[in-house]
This record gives sequence, structure tokens and C-alpha cells, in this order.
Amino acid sequence: MAVDPILLVAAALLGLCLGSFLNVCIVRLPLDMSLVNPPSTCPRCKQPIAWRDNIPVVSWLLLRGRCRRCGQPISRQYPIIEAAVGAIWVAAALLYGITLHALAAALFGTVLLGIGVTDGRHYLIPNEYTWGGLGLGLALSLAGGADGFLNAVLGAATGFALLFAVAQVGQWAFKEEAMGGGDIKMMAMVGSFVGWKGVLLTVFLGALLGSLIFVPLSLRKKRLVPFGVFLALGAAVTFVMGDAIIAWYQHFLHGE
Ligand SMILES: [Zn+2]
Repeated sequence: MAVDPILLVAAALLGLCLGSFLNVCIVRLPLDMSLVNPPSTCPRCKQPIAWRDNIPVVSWLLLRGRCRRCGQPISRQYPIIEAAVGAIWVAAALLYGITLHALAAALFGTVLLGIGVTDGRHYLIPNEYTWGGLGLGLALSLAGGADGFLNAVLGAATGFALLFAVAQVGQWAFKEEAMGGGDIKMMAMVGSFVGWKGVLLTVFLGALLGSLIFVPLSLRKKRLVPFGVFLALGAAVTFVMGDAIIAWYQHFLHGE
């Protein structure tokens, strides 16, 4: 779909700014800190950061990754997350044009990135992403009328019920918590965006990616599984290619 370059630039700028906000979420939510108070400070010297030193990606590059006041390094995570969210918003506009579906794709991708990074680091999925994302998913589904909304509710219920069942079985089989409540709420959120079939595909892809990537890594050293990382990857693939994969699978089943 041809998109006006000016709108692509607008999508990139919006994505970069949201990426800057996502950095705040990634750092503060696991610590139960407020997202607005205090305003941005240097992680090292705790001095406030002026607006001109807080421009996504650009300021980090101009300051060569160092704080203007204390000169200590500032993590590469900041510009990388900002650029990644900018890329997600541009990709959504390129794939779906300037539509509500593109907005859903961009918001979904941003939330999934936040979940993936946080779960990978801290083994937890803050409620702000899951409940917030569920609210966004349900609200955006209203554009599809009553049918769209019912599909989103059914998807959320499927995600919740499926992961809840997996967690119960895991607990019974392994006598320890195999899956956190965060994963269950996350899949309710995912279901509101991708529907019930998308939930099944996401869990399948998440388990597949988890086995392919995680099992070889964990052979060397026992680790917890940040299952949310793999579910986030599976959910992103499902959002973009899910309909094609499900159609291919149904075709395959009927052997035509
Ligand atoms: Zn500093």
C-alpha cells in the first residue's frame, strides 16, 4: 500500500516518542515506580535530564552515550528501544496504510516489545502491559462493530482459559509453578488482538520457538523460562501472518 512519505515520517516520530516512554515503562514498572514522577533523570547521577538531551536516539548519539552532567555511560538500551518502536510504527504504516488496523498493529507491537524485554530480564510481566493492552485491544475491536468486539472478547477468554489450564496441569505435574499469572493475563491481552484461533497459533509458535531457542541455552545452565518472550514473538508473527498460516493449515488438513 502506497503511503504518503510525510505520514511515514509522522509514524516514525510518534514511534520514537512512544519508544522513549516505553523505556520509562521498562525501567520503572518492575520497580513499582511512578511513570511520571520524577521526570527523566540520569540513571547514574540522578540529575534531571533537559528536554534537549532527551530527544529519542538523537540525543544519545550527540552525547555519544554519556550523561551531559556526570559523563558516565547511558545504556544502549535507550536508543535501541526507541529505534525499535519507531521501526514498528513505520512497518505498521507500510503494511496496513494509515488505518485503524495499522494503529492496532503498532500498539500491539509496542506492548509486546515491552513485555518481551521485561520478562526476559526480570521474569515478570507487569499488569500495566497486560490489562492496558487488553483495554486497547477491546477498544480497537469496537471498530469492527458487535462482531469485532465479540471476537476480541472470545479471543481474550480463550487466551485466559487456555493458559490457566496449562498452568494448572503444570503445577500438578511438576509440583511447582510452571507458568506465572503474568503469562495468563498476557494471553488474554493477545487474544483481544488476534482472536481465538490466533491464541492457539500464538501458543503453538511460542512453545516451538521456546523449545528451539531456550532448550539449547538451558542445557548449559538451569534457568527459568521467560515464556513471555516467546509468546510475544509468537503473537507478533500471528498478528502479521496468522490468517495465512491458519488458511494453509486448514488446506493441509483437508488435503486438497
Ligand atoms: Zn549523570
